[in-house]
Amino acid sequence: MTAQILDGKRLSAEIKDEIAAEIKKIVPEAARPPGLAVILVGENPASKVYVRNKRRTCEQLGIFSPEFTFDRDISPAKLFSTIDELNRDEKIDGILVQSPLPDGFDEFQVTLSIDPDKDVDGFHPINLGKLMAGKETFVACTPLGVQTLLSRNGIEISGRHVVIVGRSNIVGKPLAALLMQKKSGANATVTVCHSRTKNLAEMTRRADILVAAMGSAKFITKDMVSEGAVVVDVGISRVEDPTKKSGYRLVGDVDYDQVAEKASWITPVPGGVGPMTIAMLIHNTLLSYKRRNKID
Ligand code: NDP
Repeated sequence: MTAQILDGKRLSAEIKDEIAAEIKKIVPEAARPPGLAVILVGENPASKVYVRNKRRTCEQLGIFSPEFTFDRDISPAKLFSTIDELNRDEKIDGILVQSPLPDGFDEFQVTLSIDPDKDVDGFHPINLGKLMAGKETFVACTPLGVQTLLSRNGIEISGRHVVIVGRSNIVGKPLAALLMQKKSGANATVTVCHSRTKNLAEMTRRADILVAAMGSAKFITKDMVSEGAVVVDVGISRVEDPTKKSGYRLVGDVDYDQVAEKASWITPVPGGVGPMTIAMLIHNTLLSYKRRNKID
């Protein structure tokens, strides 16, 4: 079997077009557009690229997107006061603090300081708690991107066994909560694996839908995947590649060429889950704008 591609780049472009059309429809002439504030602390090169891509997307879609860039040695108090101002700023619907933050910052306290109604990343404990309780909330962007990529490609999730490798607060755990919901587009039986899981390959072979979110380049090999499984690769690692101008290329957690021979569907890296994450951030920002302006 040769897998069909779960093309996140194409789908995210489609979703962005839909969002642009909706913004045109619901934002009256001269009214304020949706606003997403992006905060970047320090010089992490990957973070700079992510922030640039997010802001570029906002500009394309007519979303107001002020950027707050700070040196790595700013005081936590300065960061908290900026977030506090943005919490109270009527022009802002969403606040994103790009992670990772430099040493000395407590990421959890930073997340707690964001107004849950502007937490478009879906990381605030109130929003994570609502997700666990099956209530309407901001769902974390990568898990929502994975669910959307599956459902918009007509892949059934209900009743299927989803095995997630990785239990982080931003990917594995919220994805498990999302896909086990008693709702359409969910109703999966979910197994979550991590570094202490015994017989990992035995677990992954039981997956109808396998999601790799480990951050370990090409870790998932062909023998770890059952024939016809759907394989979603969240991982992004830089590996050296002297043929590239940058000296590196991006690879996922899945040994793509080998696994694609056995899977029924597979996401490429790049061009799979990554672009979906950005599209879902914009989706959540528009959702926040609609809630705050009481638009159905
Ligand atoms: P974390 O490092 O927070 O979590 C990694 C998880 O993988 C942990 O639960 C860890 O287990 C598990 N793990 C690591 N190695 C193994 C192993 N050998 N066997 C089994 N489990 C293992 O990473 P994130 O969740 O933040 O990110 C994961 C990857 O996804 C990264 O490559 C990241 O860059 C990428 N990413 C991509 C996004 C996108 O938009 N495409 C968005 C977010 C992340 P344990 O808990 O026991 O340590």
